[in-house]
Amino acid sequence: MLPLFFARHFVQPVLMNNTNRTTLGQILLLCFVALAACSADRESGKVDAGSDDAIDLIIKGDHIVTMDDDRTIISNGAVAVDDGIIIAIGTQAEIEAQFRSRQTLAGDKRVVMPGLVNGHGHAAMTLLRGVADDLELMDWLNNYIFPSEVEFVDSEFVRIGTELACWEMIRGGTTTFVDMYYFPDTIAEVVVDCGMRAMISATVIDQRSPDAEGAADSISKGSAFINRWKNRNPRITPMFGPHANYTLNAEQLAATRAAAIELGVPISIHMSESPFELQYSQDTFGMTSIEMYESIGFFEGPTIAAHVVWPTAAEIPILVSRKVGVIHNPTSNMKIASGISPVAEMLAAGVRVGLGTDGAASNNDLDMWEEMRLAAFLQKVDRMDPRVLPADTVLSMATTGGATAIGLGDITGSLEVGKRADIIQVAFDDVHHVPTFNVVSHLVYVTDEQDVASVIVDGQVLMLEHEFLTIDTERVTAEAVEFAARIQAALEQRNRE
Ligand SMILES: [Zn+2]
Repeated sequence: MLPLFFARHFVQPVLMNNTNRTTLGQILLLCFVALAACSADRESGKVDAGSDDAIDLIIKGDHIVTMDDDRTIISNGAVAVDDGIIIAIGTQAEIEAQFRSRQTLAGDKRVVMPGLVNGHGHAAMTLLRGVADDLELMDWLNNYIFPSEVEFVDSEFVRIGTELACWEMIRGGTTTFVDMYYFPDTIAEVVVDCGMRAMISATVIDQRSPDAEGAADSISKGSAFINRWKNRNPRITPMFGPHANYTLNAEQLAATRAAAIELGVPISIHMSESPFELQYSQDTFGMTSIEMYESIGFFEGPTIAAHVVWPTAAEIPILVSRKVGVIHNPTSNMKIASGISPVAEMLAAGVRVGLGTDGAASNNDLDMWEEMRLAAFLQKVDRMDPRVLPADTVLSMATTGGATAIGLGDITGSLEVGKRADIIQVAFDDVHHVPTFNVVSHLVYVTDEQDVASVIVDGQVLMLEHEFLTIDTERVTAEAVEFAARIQAALEQRNRE
């Protein structure tokens, strides 16, 4: 749920302060990392940092969960990475016989798997985390979220909130995310610096928003953003994010699709999320939501549809034939009481379904492990059938299936030779992983985000044994706390009035 924005115009200084400030702490950390890498390499006995034929990185694990089509799991395995690409996967013996690397991540009590794909969210809303909970939807929006956005959402808010989100997502093993919020250039700059992979949607909405005056203006500004970022950085996919069919009319939705086709980019959107939307669509268009989108040719280009809680039996085949990527957000759907999405039916019909957290204001964290667990449990209790949505299916929704749903299945989501090296190492030394009969069962039903030890995106190590290499966590914490204090003071002031 992306909060809407109904407010009067306001002017905020635009701060594009996104430069990397190298602190002494970062320098010391890098030295430490270099030493740690050297000692790990020495342990493996295969270090030759000066050698020309050494590859960039070898990542070892007790188990390599590839999530390839055969669901191959390699015991005592290793993944070889060079120039950002996975160049070989095999047993540690095979990989070590074939390659020498400049850096090696030791694999004792570690599971190696693809990085997680968070298919829907509003990253900067981490700054509104917990600002108000347990309220009826319109009370929550009108009295808490909207006023906070009216007063505070500017480029600086988006920079701090997105950095906070990237930190949290890296910590939890997410390597790719799909975002929809305001000031998309700022989001993109943060993502470039933190090293993640992201599809960044410029929000299109027919009302005054923090960065546009209405539908036409947001399409125009979104087009300019897309032109600035298309083909600029291989980790960034710019796109349009039309909000929903109750905040845009049919002509505006069609115009957004036309612009997306012209620019050759996909679209992400909220679709069939709530009973309110169903009723609104019937009253306004005389059709349910997905039928309405089909009737205006909206699915003529790649579409990532968040939620899809209320598809009719007639609409599910449309999602299949149009190859719509559906993103299931179980925590948000439960917290806002949107309903229970028929995920099992959609998967059985052949719909591409991934997982997402939605924004932190309606979750309230960005923990994909929790989404996996809740997705499974919600379907099981809804059908009163524990066989529904088994662990492997859920793990796929968070990795290879999710990557396919958002259109990046060719480059990420599984560990296969030729794919980009988006890889995580999960520590299996905590008591809750003892004993381990079935690795996939543990990953879905036991593992927490704190278990993620190391994170690699595009071959770059972003977190090494819980140490963050691309984010100044102390600075981000200080900035977030300060911003939150301003929000708190403003809300208290307003409540006194
Ligand atoms: Zn949303």
